[in-house]
Amino acid sequence: MPKEKGKGMTRENDPLQHSFSKNTSMMGLINELWYLKRDIVSDDFDRALYRLAEEVPMTIHEYASGETCWTWRVPEKWTCQEATLETLDGHRLVDAADHPLHVVSYSLPFEGVVSRTELLAHLHVHSKRPEAIPFVFKYYDRNWGLCATQAVRDALTEESYRVVIRTSFEPGTLKVGEVVIPGQSDECFVLVAHLCHPAMVNDDLTGVVVGIDVARELLALSQSQGQTYYTYRLLILPETIGSVAYLSHNEELIPGMSGGLFLEMVGNDSPHALQGSFEPNSQADRCLNSVLKSLDPQGYLGEYRTVINNDERQFNAPGVRVPMLSLSRVEPPGSPTRPYPEYHSSDDNPGIVTSERLEATKQVVLGMLRAWENNQYVVNQFKGEVFCSGYGIWIDYRVNPEGHRLLFRIMEHCDGEHTVADIASILQTSFQSVWEVVALLQSKDLVWFSRTPHPTRPRKRQAGL
Ligand SMILES: [Zn+2]
Repeated sequence: MPKEKGKGMTRENDPLQHSFSKNTSMMGLINELWYLKRDIVSDDFDRALYRLAEEVPMTIHEYASGETCWTWRVPEKWTCQEATLETLDGHRLVDAADHPLHVVSYSLPFEGVVSRTELLAHLHVHSKRPEAIPFVFKYYDRNWGLCATQAVRDALTEESYRVVIRTSFEPGTLKVGEVVIPGQSDECFVLVAHLCHPAMVNDDLTGVVVGIDVARELLALSQSQGQTYYTYRLLILPETIGSVAYLSHNEELIPGMSGGLFLEMVGNDSPHALQGSFEPNSQADRCLNSVLKSLDPQGYLGEYRTVINNDERQFNAPGVRVPMLSLSRVEPPGSPTRPYPEYHSSDDNPGIVTSERLEATKQVVLGMLRAWENNQYVVNQFKGEVFCSGYGIWIDYRVNPEGHRLLFRIMEHCDGEHTVADIASILQTSFQSVWEVVALLQSKDLVWFSRTPHPTRPRKRQAGL
């Protein structure tokens, strides 16, 4: 039964009805769901989300069309029954039945004979990929429109054409899927992926399926090894409006969100790109930045809004300020095909992604979350510089040369005022190098770990007292 939560509605899976044991592979889910017409509020979006809810225990939040979410409003449900372009003698040139991208998402209905000039103003092509159909959406700035290859557009030589676009706008509910993996603490790390790109894969289904698989791993880990420290929350939603709808209906959760990671475009063949948050000195930024290279040596970092813009904007925005980074495989700056060649086109299909890349990205995310769990304040039990030889502390430089060289620099930052990520950031070294040293110090009872700052510096007398 739906239950009331704020103004939105929430529907939880009944665990008795769902075994969550389907355990479909990431590529299996992509093959099942990619061709659905997953427009932001649509029947196929719902189908995809409910299918994903068979894989993990998911709560589905619903927000009604027309509902105000901060400065935004939830759009109507949109359905396209038919969209065609024909010559006046009935030769069909474009048909949305052949590919969902042939019609602009949220196109207004239109039927009539139009001049070639008028048609060209409404017929979209891909600027970089002439042989593909572009993905064009007009969710708010509405108009009618069709999409085609450049060849179809170039062949339009007649004076007039017949256009039929039968679409409907009706009240519906925008849906957000939420998977919660409870931790010892309410403090939460948020993973976000959007599901609203019809008949495309790398952008955006790859982020969704990696998120689902990461959630599955975290749930299994919780069962086998006990709860994580942090609570993890995976949100699967329509881009932008989904994040705004969820956040505006769950404001009480925002103070507990200490970090987050947005996931998309992770199936193509580029190194991992980690985009920082609006607050580059946050613990989330320092931790994830310092761990990337040990998870993908080719991986690169980019500042906020320099790699790709997505839902992380809503989390980083004023009044929210959750430091959310984003992980993708966007091509490095300077690449003419950035973010990737098939972006927002009909060529973004299952053939351009591989299960190996998805698995590699999943391992990168899990590695980042392992570091996040370990990122604590390092509190010294010792005073003065440690008598290393007396403690038998020796790091094999053949195994970990960086750790060996940095041992003393790391130890001097173990003062209860710096986390592992702080130390890695200050010394411009990897999280892993610092972690190996402080874990060794902990094994010798020279340091302990604290979730909150625990300064050990003595209070100094003020001059004259
Ligand atoms: Zn996109």
